Amino acid sequence: MSEPLRILNIGGHPKDAILYAGGTMAKHAARGDRVTILTPTTGLSHHLEAINQYRDTGKMPEMETLVEERRKELVDAAAEIGVSDVRFLGHPDDIVTIDRDIVNDIADVIGEIRPNMIVTHWPNDTVPAHAMATQMTLLAIDAASGMRPGRPYAPTGGDTGGAQAQIFYHTQIGRTNVLESLNIRIPTTIIDITDTFIQKSNAMNKFKSQHYGEESPLQRKLGETMDGGVYAIHMRVAYTEAFITHNPQLYDYLPLSEYGRKMADRTDDEAFKDRMKMLLVD
Ligand SMILES: [Zn+2]
Repeated sequence: MSEPLRILNIGGHPKDAILYAGGTMAKHAARGDRVTILTPTTGLSHHLEAINQYRDTGKMPEMETLVEERRKELVDAAAEIGVSDVRFLGHPDDIVTIDRDIVNDIADVIGEIRPNMIVTHWPNDTVPAHAMATQMTLLAIDAASGMRPGRPYAPTGGDTGGAQAQIFYHTQIGRTNVLESLNIRIPTTIIDITDTFIQKSNAMNKFKSQHYGEESPLQRKLGETMDGGVYAIHMRVAYTEAFITHNPQLYDYLPLSEYGRKMADRTDDEAFKDRMKMLLVD
Protein backbone atom coordinates (compact mmCIF):
# COMPACT_ATOMS: atom_id res chain seq x y z
CA MET A 1 0.00 0.00 0.00
CA SER A 2 1.15 3.56 -0.61
CA GLU A 3 1.62 6.14 2.19
CA PRO A 4 -1.15 5.92 4.81
CA LEU A 5 -3.87 8.51 4.32
CA ARG A 6 -4.55 11.23 6.85
CA ILE A 7 -8.31 11.55 7.23
CA LEU A 8 -10.18 14.18 9.24
CA ASN A 9 -13.75 13.12 10.03
CA ILE A 10 -15.87 16.00 11.34
CA GLY A 11 -19.31 15.73 12.94
CA GLY A 12 -21.44 18.72 13.95
CA HIS A 13 -22.58 16.80 17.04
CA PRO A 14 -20.38 14.29 18.85
CA LYS A 15 -21.99 11.13 17.47
CA ASP A 16 -22.26 12.29 13.83
CA ALA A 17 -18.71 11.32 12.89
CA ILE A 18 -19.60 7.72 13.78
CA LEU A 19 -23.26 7.68 12.69
CA TYR A 20 -22.53 8.80 9.13
CA ALA A 21 -19.02 7.49 8.50
CA GLY A 22 -18.02 5.16 11.36
CA GLY A 23 -18.00 1.97 9.32
CA THR A 24 -15.81 3.57 6.68
CA MET A 25 -13.42 5.02 9.28
CA ALA A 26 -13.11 1.60 10.94
CA LYS A 27 -11.91 0.18 7.61
CA HIS A 28 -9.39 2.98 7.09
CA ALA A 29 -8.11 2.68 10.66
CA ALA A 30 -7.69 -1.09 10.25
CA ARG A 31 -5.77 -0.50 7.00
CA GLY A 32 -3.29 1.73 8.83
CA ASP A 33 -4.60 5.14 7.75
CA ARG A 34 -4.47 7.92 10.31
CA VAL A 35 -8.02 8.92 11.25
CA THR A 36 -8.82 11.96 13.38
CA ILE A 37 -12.35 12.59 14.65
CA LEU A 38 -13.32 16.15 15.43
CA THR A 39 -16.50 17.65 16.82
CA PRO A 40 -16.72 21.38 17.44
CA THR A 41 -19.59 21.28 19.93
CA THR A 42 -20.37 19.64 23.25
CA GLY A 43 -23.62 18.11 21.99
CA LEU A 44 -25.25 19.16 25.27
CA SER A 45 -28.52 20.21 23.63
CA HIS A 46 -28.83 16.56 22.55
CA HIS A 47 -28.16 15.07 25.98
CA LEU A 48 -31.65 13.57 26.04
CA GLU A 49 -31.13 11.73 29.32
CA ALA A 50 -30.22 14.96 31.12
CA ILE A 51 -33.10 16.86 29.51
CA ASN A 52 -35.57 14.20 30.66
CA GLN A 53 -34.13 14.19 34.18
CA TYR A 54 -34.41 17.98 34.41
CA ARG A 55 -38.01 17.83 33.24
CA ASP A 56 -38.87 15.14 35.77
CA THR A 57 -37.01 16.49 38.80
CA GLY A 58 -36.63 20.24 38.13
CA LYS A 59 -33.04 19.87 39.33
CA MET A 60 -30.42 21.61 37.19
CA PRO A 61 -27.73 19.08 36.22
CA GLU A 62 -24.03 19.73 36.71
CA MET A 63 -23.01 21.00 33.24
CA GLU A 64 -19.34 20.08 33.45
CA THR A 65 -20.26 16.49 34.26
CA LEU A 66 -22.59 16.34 31.26
CA VAL A 67 -19.95 17.74 28.90
CA GLU A 68 -17.46 15.19 30.21
CA GLU A 69 -20.04 12.42 29.67
CA ARG A 70 -20.54 13.46 26.04
CA ARG A 71 -16.78 13.65 25.48
CA LYS A 72 -16.24 10.23 27.02
CA GLU A 73 -19.02 8.69 24.92
CA LEU A 74 -17.27 9.86 21.75
CA VAL A 75 -13.82 8.71 22.91
CA ASP A 76 -15.24 5.27 23.82
CA ALA A 77 -17.15 5.05 20.53
CA ALA A 78 -14.04 6.01 18.53
CA ALA A 79 -12.06 3.30 20.34
CA GLU A 80 -14.59 0.70 19.09
CA ILE A 81 -13.72 1.61 15.49
CA GLY A 82 -9.98 1.74 16.18
CA VAL A 83 -9.60 5.52 16.32
CA SER A 84 -7.76 7.09 19.27
CA ASP A 85 -7.26 10.64 17.96
CA VAL A 86 -10.45 12.46 19.04
CA ARG A 87 -10.64 16.25 19.14
CA PHE A 88 -13.55 17.53 21.19
CA LEU A 89 -13.46 21.33 20.85
CA GLY A 90 -16.18 21.87 23.46
CA HIS A 91 -18.02 24.86 21.97
CA PRO A 92 -21.69 25.31 22.93
CA ASP A 93 -24.16 23.88 20.44
CA ASP A 94 -27.36 25.61 21.53
CA ILE A 95 -26.96 28.40 18.97
CA VAL A 96 -24.41 27.30 16.42
CA THR A 97 -23.57 29.85 13.82
CA ILE A 98 -20.36 30.66 11.99
CA ASP A 99 -18.00 31.59 14.75
CA ARG A 100 -14.44 32.83 14.32
CA ASP A 101 -13.15 30.95 17.37
CA ILE A 102 -14.55 27.65 16.12
CA VAL A 103 -13.16 28.27 12.60
CA ASN A 104 -9.74 29.00 14.12
CA ASP A 105 -9.85 25.87 16.28
CA ILE A 106 -10.75 23.70 13.27
CA ALA A 107 -8.02 25.42 11.21
CA ASP A 108 -5.47 24.60 13.93
CA VAL A 109 -6.34 20.91 13.68
CA ILE A 110 -6.21 21.01 9.86
CA GLY A 111 -2.86 22.83 9.98
CA GLU A 112 -1.50 20.23 12.40
CA ILE A 113 -2.58 17.00 10.73
CA ARG A 114 -2.80 18.22 7.09
CA PRO A 115 -5.52 15.74 6.12
CA ASN A 116 -5.55 14.30 2.60
CA MET A 117 -9.28 13.84 3.00
CA ILE A 118 -11.97 15.51 5.03
CA VAL A 119 -15.28 13.76 5.71
CA THR A 120 -18.18 15.89 6.89
CA HIS A 121 -21.84 16.86 6.46
CA TRP A 122 -23.42 18.21 3.29
CA PRO A 123 -22.93 22.02 3.46
CA ASN A 124 -26.68 22.66 3.15
CA ASP A 125 -27.79 19.93 5.54
CA THR A 126 -31.13 20.97 7.05
CA VAL A 127 -29.81 20.43 10.59
CA PRO A 128 -28.21 23.84 11.20
CA ALA A 129 -25.42 22.50 13.44
CA HIS A 130 -24.42 20.10 10.63
CA ALA A 131 -24.43 22.74 7.88
CA MET A 132 -22.57 25.21 10.10
CA ALA A 133 -19.91 22.63 10.98
CA THR A 134 -19.21 22.12 7.29
CA GLN A 135 -19.30 25.79 6.38
CA MET A 136 -16.89 26.53 9.21
CA THR A 137 -14.72 23.65 8.00
CA LEU A 138 -14.60 25.15 4.50
CA LEU A 139 -13.52 28.49 6.01
CA ALA A 140 -11.00 26.66 8.19
CA ILE A 141 -9.53 24.90 5.13
CA ASP A 142 -9.02 28.31 3.57
CA ALA A 143 -7.49 29.70 6.74
CA ALA A 144 -5.22 26.68 7.17
CA SER A 145 -4.04 26.80 3.54
CA GLY A 146 -2.51 30.18 4.29
CA MET A 147 -0.25 28.41 6.80
CA ARG A 148 1.56 26.68 3.94
CA PRO A 149 3.61 29.40 2.28
CA GLY A 150 4.37 28.80 -1.37
CA ARG A 151 1.88 25.97 -1.69
CA PRO A 152 -1.55 27.45 -1.04
CA TYR A 153 -3.56 25.25 -3.37
CA ALA A 154 -4.35 21.57 -3.55
CA PRO A 155 -2.23 19.55 -5.99
CA THR A 156 -5.40 18.35 -7.73
CA GLY A 157 -6.60 21.89 -8.31
CA GLY A 158 -10.12 22.89 -7.51
CA ASP A 159 -10.96 24.90 -4.43
CA THR A 160 -10.35 22.50 -1.58
CA GLY A 161 -7.18 24.41 -0.60
CA GLY A 162 -4.19 23.24 1.43
CA ALA A 163 -3.19 19.61 1.28
CA GLN A 164 -6.73 18.28 0.99
CA ALA A 165 -7.18 16.33 -2.19
CA GLN A 166 -10.83 15.65 -1.51
CA ILE A 167 -13.79 16.37 0.76
CA PHE A 168 -16.44 13.68 1.16
CA TYR A 169 -19.87 14.84 2.27
CA HIS A 170 -22.27 12.35 3.89
CA THR A 171 -25.33 11.68 1.77
CA GLN A 172 -27.19 9.19 3.89
CA ILE A 173 -30.92 9.17 3.33
CA GLY A 174 -32.61 10.27 6.52
CA ARG A 175 -34.80 13.29 6.94
CA THR A 176 -37.90 13.69 4.83
CA ASN A 177 -38.51 17.42 5.10
CA VAL A 178 -39.20 19.50 2.01
CA LEU A 179 -35.87 21.32 2.11
CA GLU A 180 -34.00 18.01 1.97
CA SER A 181 -36.22 16.85 -0.86
CA LEU A 182 -35.58 20.00 -2.89
CA ASN A 183 -31.91 19.28 -2.61
CA ILE A 184 -31.63 15.69 -3.71
CA ARG A 185 -28.13 14.31 -3.31
CA ILE A 186 -26.97 11.44 -5.46
CA PRO A 187 -23.96 9.65 -3.93
CA THR A 188 -20.75 9.55 -5.94
CA THR A 189 -19.03 7.08 -3.63
CA ILE A 190 -20.46 4.16 -1.71
CA ILE A 191 -18.41 2.16 0.78
CA ASP A 192 -19.26 -1.43 1.69
CA ILE A 193 -19.17 -1.48 5.51
CA THR A 194 -20.52 -5.01 6.00
CA ASP A 195 -17.20 -6.11 7.58
CA THR A 196 -17.16 -3.25 10.10
CA PHE A 197 -20.90 -2.88 10.72
CA ILE A 198 -20.80 -4.66 14.10
CA GLN A 199 -17.90 -2.44 15.20
CA LYS A 200 -19.89 0.61 14.15
CA SER A 201 -22.97 -0.63 16.02
CA ASN A 202 -20.93 -1.23 19.17
CA ALA A 203 -19.59 2.31 18.80
CA MET A 204 -23.08 3.80 18.37
CA ASN A 205 -24.21 1.97 21.50
CA LYS A 206 -21.79 4.10 23.53
CA PHE A 207 -24.06 7.14 23.03
CA LYS A 208 -26.25 6.32 26.01
CA SER A 209 -27.14 10.00 26.50
CA GLN A 210 -29.16 9.68 23.30
CA HIS A 211 -30.97 6.43 24.04
CA TYR A 212 -28.47 4.13 22.32
CA GLY A 213 -27.04 1.16 24.23
CA GLU A 214 -26.91 -2.65 24.24
CA GLU A 215 -30.41 -2.79 25.74
CA SER A 216 -31.86 -0.32 23.22
CA PRO A 217 -33.29 -1.28 19.81
CA LEU A 218 -32.28 2.11 18.34
CA GLN A 219 -29.05 1.17 16.59
CA ARG A 220 -30.55 -2.05 15.28
CA LYS A 221 -33.41 -0.09 13.74
CA LEU A 222 -31.22 2.73 12.41
CA GLY A 223 -28.52 0.38 11.18
CA GLU A 224 -30.95 -1.63 9.10
CA THR A 225 -32.85 1.37 7.71
CA MET A 226 -29.92 3.71 7.03
CA ASP A 227 -26.80 1.59 6.47
CA GLY A 228 -28.80 -1.41 5.29
CA GLY A 229 -31.21 0.68 3.21
CA VAL A 230 -31.61 1.29 -0.50
CA TYR A 231 -27.98 2.08 -1.30
CA ALA A 232 -26.88 -1.24 0.18
CA ILE A 233 -29.68 -3.11 -1.57
CA HIS A 234 -28.82 -1.58 -4.94
CA MET A 235 -25.10 -2.22 -4.44
CA ARG A 236 -26.02 -5.82 -3.52
CA VAL A 237 -24.18 -5.80 -0.21
CA ALA A 238 -25.54 -5.82 3.34
CA TYR A 239 -24.47 -2.41 4.69
CA THR A 240 -23.01 0.74 3.16
CA GLU A 241 -22.15 4.35 3.89
CA ALA A 242 -22.70 6.87 1.09
CA PHE A 243 -20.79 10.03 0.23
CA ILE A 244 -20.65 12.72 -2.39
CA THR A 245 -17.32 14.25 -3.35
CA HIS A 246 -16.67 17.99 -3.33
CA ASN A 247 -14.70 17.84 -6.58
CA PRO A 248 -14.61 15.34 -9.43
CA GLN A 249 -11.49 13.19 -9.15
CA LEU A 250 -8.67 13.24 -11.68
CA TYR A 251 -7.65 9.94 -13.30
CA ASP A 252 -5.41 8.65 -16.05
CA TYR A 253 -8.25 6.52 -17.39
CA LEU A 254 -11.95 6.01 -16.83
CA PRO A 255 -12.08 4.52 -13.32
CA LEU A 256 -13.66 1.21 -12.40
CA SER A 257 -13.12 -0.01 -8.86
CA GLU A 258 -11.49 -3.45 -8.67
CA TYR A 259 -13.83 -4.19 -5.80
CA GLY A 260 -16.95 -3.33 -7.79
CA ARG A 261 -15.70 -5.49 -10.63
CA LYS A 262 -15.17 -8.43 -8.28
CA MET A 263 -18.62 -7.98 -6.72
CA ALA A 264 -20.24 -7.92 -10.16
CA ASP A 265 -18.79 -11.38 -10.83
CA ARG A 266 -20.79 -13.05 -8.05
CA THR A 267 -23.59 -15.40 -9.00
CA ASP A 268 -27.13 -14.10 -8.54
CA ASP A 269 -27.53 -16.37 -5.51
CA GLU A 270 -24.34 -15.09 -3.87
CA ALA A 271 -25.30 -11.47 -4.52
CA PHE A 272 -28.81 -12.04 -3.13
CA LYS A 273 -27.39 -13.66 0.02
CA ASP A 274 -24.93 -10.80 0.52
CA ARG A 275 -27.60 -8.17 0.26
CA MET A 276 -30.07 -9.96 2.55
CA LYS A 277 -27.52 -10.39 5.35
CA MET A 278 -28.72 -8.93 8.67
CA LEU A 279 -26.04 -8.85 11.32
CA LEU A 280 -28.02 -7.37 14.21
CA VAL A 281 -30.72 -10.02 14.55
CA ASP A 282 -31.47 -11.31 18.06
ZN1 LIG B 1 -26.08 15.68 14.39
